[in-house]
Amino acid sequence: MVAEVIINSNARALNKVFDYEIPKELEGQLKIGSRVFVPFGNSKEPKLEDGFVINIKSKSDFVKDEKTKLKQIAKIDEEDSLTPQNIELAKLMANKYFCNVSDCIKLMLAPGTGSKVKANRVHEKKLNFVYLAKDYDEIIFELENAKRKSQKQISIINFLKDNLGIYRPELEALLETTSSTLKILEQKGYIEFKEEQVARNPLEKKKVKSDKAKDLNEEQQVCFDRIKQDIINNTYSNNLIYGITGSGKTEIYMQLIDVALKQGKSALMLVPEISLTPQTIDRFIARFGKSIAVLHSKLSQGERFDEWQKIKKDEVKIVVGARSAIFAPIKNLGIIIIDEEHDLSYRSEMTPRYNAKDLAYYMAKQNSIPLVLGSATPDIVTFYHDKQSQLGLEKNKVTNLFVLTKRANDAILPESKIIDMRLELAQGNKSMLSEELKSAIEKNIKNKEQTILFLNRRGFSTFIMCRDCGYVANCPNCNISLTYHKYQNILKCHYCSHEESVLKVCPNCSSNRIKFYGTGTQKLEEEINKLFPKASTIRMDLDTVSLKNSHEDILNKFKNDKIDILIGTQMIAKGHDFPNVTLVGIVGADGELNIGDYNAVERAFQTLVQVSGRSGRGSKKGKVIIQTYNPEHYAIEYAQKQDYKGFFDTELNLRKLLKYPPFCDIILIRLNGTDLNLVKKVSNRIYQNLEGFLKESSNIIFKPVPAPVDKIKGNYRYRIIIKGKASQKMIEIINRSISEKSIGKSGVQIFVDINPSSLM
Ligand code: ADP
Ligand code: ZN
Ligand code: ZN
Repeated sequence: MVAEVIINSNARALNKVFDYEIPKELEGQLKIGSRVFVPFGNSKEPKLEDGFVINIKSKSDFVKDEKTKLKQIAKIDEEDSLTPQNIELAKLMANKYFCNVSDCIKLMLAPGTGSKVKANRVHEKKLNFVYLAKDYDEIIFELENAKRKSQKQISIINFLKDNLGIYRPELEALLETTSSTLKILEQKGYIEFKEEQVARNPLEKKKVKSDKAKDLNEEQQVCFDRIKQDIINNTYSNNLIYGITGSGKTEIYMQLIDVALKQGKSALMLVPEISLTPQTIDRFIARFGKSIAVLHSKLSQGERFDEWQKIKKDEVKIVVGARSAIFAPIKNLGIIIIDEEHDLSYRSEMTPRYNAKDLAYYMAKQNSIPLVLGSATPDIVTFYHDKQSQLGLEKNKVTNLFVLTKRANDAILPESKIIDMRLELAQGNKSMLSEELKSAIEKNIKNKEQTILFLNRRGFSTFIMCRDCGYVANCPNCNISLTYHKYQNILKCHYCSHEESVLKVCPNCSSNRIKFYGTGTQKLEEEINKLFPKASTIRMDLDTVSLKNSHEDILNKFKNDKIDILIGTQMIAKGHDFPNVTLVGIVGADGELNIGDYNAVERAFQTLVQVSGRSGRGSKKGKVIIQTYNPEHYAIEYAQKQDYKGFFDTELNLRKLLKYPPFCDIILIRLNGTDLNLVKKVSNRIYQNLEGFLKESSNIIFKPVPAPVDKIKGNYRYRIIIKGKASQKMIEIINRSISEKSIGKSGVQIFVDINPSSLM
């Protein structure tokens, strides 16, 4: 017997299948998905490389006569083997997302086991906890009186006094200390590391009150009953729950998961990374106890590994996770749920650029189980397809649409108001806050109720410019302006993290009339502190959220310490439930409207609705104030009315007129490279290929042009756009047009995205 083996490598040239003979003694053991070690290379002493078996056949076409002999598989690694379903999915992904099978396989391996060298890998339960090795007072005495006093060492010891037995990487991250500092302390006999035989369970320390299923209301019941049948009967169905925030979607998800568990099956629930807050997880623990695996990017590699093993060994039946949890080795799946299905985080922006929603759809079909999508603002394309299939227009998609129209706990939707900032300006108000928002904040502070202020731009000002000659400070690596960060007093590039000091004199004309334009969260915070000096504020954006837990720390602080005002970007938009928030101020609603992407308006609408939904979730009625320079824009008007359907109809008509998804697909081919001429040359070559292949079709191919941001991190960026249908044939044509065979080895990176979230 012969096995087709794909070598586990990044090199494009290696993304080929090699035939190996299966030795007799391995024949019964070897399956599609087995991880194997094989001799590779032509030298006398070939190296052993690892790979995966993707097919088994009786003979090889490579063996043409008696003399040619195939090399033999050296050994199998049972522990890290995959299933035939994994391999099938990887092949499908490679084709659909224009990438290597081996890249897709990597996503399905237990975290930390991708490395070839076993010694470098994460091991089970081998954990380093840090303890004090002597009496605290004794250590501190010695440190304080040392010849060379180290403040860093003292702070570590002080920290350990209250946090004995902390996990070492956590200590390193929290105190921003290095391994070597800890080693010195160990050598001095002050601290010791202990390896403890405990599972790294991220939920371990949690104490959560248990909770029972609620009696569903009529709308919830209809939805639940229908999907329940599909779980019990093992039938595929594609379900969309469109329900306003707080309408009880999560309650339905939990009761459906319960049905699956009672059937002896498991459940996968995907949520956007940013919504995987302790609050969300607590709700699941309250209902199902701690037999839940949680997967997200903030877990340490070790924690991820443990969660993965628990799932693989079938010790947990519920997996809650971000995008990549779709690859978790779950057995006997009974339902897949995707909450906030419109969220962009389900798409991977790294190779392989997969969309977890597509894969969920495929897996639900494969396993004959229901797929449940939920959102208050469904993706226009999803909603369109579901409506179509309701009307019987798309026969191949079995879909059910469920609409939840009321808040489940009788909370009333907030009252929402639009403020025209042009009028404010005309009346001489140059501040970032309208008079109405100012007085609303003041009232809230007086009433001890909390306020959230949203502004989708971090930093202090958008860009800085010379008033005399118009010079703008740009990043040297990227063609994009630098953003001023006041507290650090530096200019930062938000694309590549390049930093430089603030200009005092224009490098172009030597003028010192440098002005800061635009606004950001830092500037807003400063203005709030000036206007309301007694109010407490906290800011949440990429700059304040960098430590492992500080996202939740900020939210907890806001909630528990009764901070008056939370200021933040996109990050504050979802997943949190603060009953005492009665005012949401959307300080700038226009930013997203003016980006040139075909779906920018949809994003803006979704954000507005989501942020508005943070107001008045408790017993007190909420208020929303939307400040804008485009008060008559339909996205703003419909967001104010929380009218998704109205927005949907208007937006869909526009898309039809302009030929955008769902009426056609936009295929973006992106080229990056350090050599501009080469990037141009390859772009033209691909364009010619495509033209040749697509000559007779109704697709439109646009000539290669520089991308809107035409240089990032020193890489020149070009793009080719095709408007048409992303059929299997089209995918094949693109694959052929960009293949090495047709354009040669070029050193230019090529990415293909279908209906990308951004054309930038
Ligand atoms: P969504 O996921 O749509 O935002 P949730 O499921 O979180 O909505 O429900 C919002 C609130 O209403 C929660 O506090 C939840 O416990 C409560 N709730 C949901 N369904 C019911 C119900 N049938 N009866 C009473 N309360 C409910
Ligand atoms: Zn100048
Ligand atoms: Zn840059």
